Amino acid sequence: MPVPVSQAATVASYVLKQKLSGRKHYPLVMMLEPLFRCNLACEGCGKIQFPDHILKKRVSAEKALAAAEECGAPMVSIAGGEPLIHPEIQEIVEGLIKQGRYIYFCTNALLLERALKKFKPNKQLSFSVHMDGLKEEHDQSVCRDGTYEIALSAIRKAVDMGFRVTTNTTLFNTANPERVRQFFDEMMEVGVEGMMLSPGYAYEKAPKQDIFLGRTLTKALFKKILGDAKKGWRFNHSASFMAFLRGDINYECTPWGNPTYNVFGWQKPCYLLADGYVKTFKELIDTTEWEKYGRAGKGTDERCLNCMVHCGHEATAVNDTFSPMGLVRFLKAAGNFRRTAVLSAEEEELLASQPAYEGAHSCASSSSEPSGRDELMEAMASSRGQSEVKTGEEPISRN
Ligand code: SF4
Ligand code: SF4
Repeated sequence: MPVPVSQAATVASYVLKQKLSGRKHYPLVMMLEPLFRCNLACEGCGKIQFPDHILKKRVSAEKALAAAEECGAPMVSIAGGEPLIHPEIQEIVEGLIKQGRYIYFCTNALLLERALKKFKPNKQLSFSVHMDGLKEEHDQSVCRDGTYEIALSAIRKAVDMGFRVTTNTTLFNTANPERVRQFFDEMMEVGVEGMMLSPGYAYEKAPKQDIFLGRTLTKALFKKILGDAKKGWRFNHSASFMAFLRGDINYECTPWGNPTYNVFGWQKPCYLLADGYVKTFKELIDTTEWEKYGRAGKGTDERCLNCMVHCGHEATAVNDTFSPMGLVRFLKAAGNFRRTAVLSAEEEELLASQPAYEGAHSCASSSSEPSGRDELMEAMASSRGQSEVKTGEEPISRN
């Protein structure tokens, strides 16, 4: 994992402590959304569709820091919306660093280059730049021309100034595996520390609904992209999570591993679903019916069936590594990481049937897109109907 030794040691000793104390519901990465307002309107975004009076709300620095303190997770991912718009973002970052937390500052980087002077390079701070592929794919995904070049320039500047920089990339059914691999080369060339990958989650509120990946397609796509992984590629994930994406390990999700705090309070049960809010982290842990979520639980929630995102499953992978069998799985995953991918004929066929990027889709602002709630739900239902959902597999549990 391409992170500073101090970060790896902090996280490892934290997890060990939780395991030794027998604590089941422990957080690994707190997801802090200090606002939902953004200066982009990406087609797969599930965060910016709130009415204006909600988009105007901000989590104060005082509340954000108190929430992080109560939660106690060693890492905080500052997401949004666009955190650089938040008027107290410096105080939040400085306060979290003082608390000893490692920060992943998610940004679309439109404002990053100018904002860099507000921050000091620190091993506890990494800018996690939203990059959804090479120029054409990224600009299409964020629905604005020129954003790739702006983000790339900000990444270069941040790297030059000595900041840690990672990328976070969401992949949809329009991903062309060969071009994604070229994108990895490009990110490594500009000096990115590590790349984070996620299959797009089918947010009910996302403006475009026919782009999300089903579970079978996710595995086939990642097998294709990550097979024969180049030596120089660095990912900001555990080897076990990468094996999960390729379908080599079957993990259940750990929603409490990435608890989410935003303008409404603590969000139940995870970063992706919003089934209610509570005021304290303790209430979140004590009152959420965790067994309802994931794929193996009682009354499995259908919104979980196709979910393979890192904020639900990386914590399971990390937790698993701290058990004897999990360590074996991790070592096997690390050993297999660069192996040649062998896709079944069905997987090849499934990939070939996708609208791999050729300008095959357009942004939600296009007049041909459904605009009302009913049309959106209809589009979503039909896109879900196309994805294959297997519920019979028994995932490796979250404990
Ligand atoms: S940059 Fe992030 S928060 Fe902003 S619209 Fe895009 S996905 Fe949503
Ligand atoms: S499977 Fe995904 S959507 Fe369901 S609880 Fe876990 S992280 Fe949330």
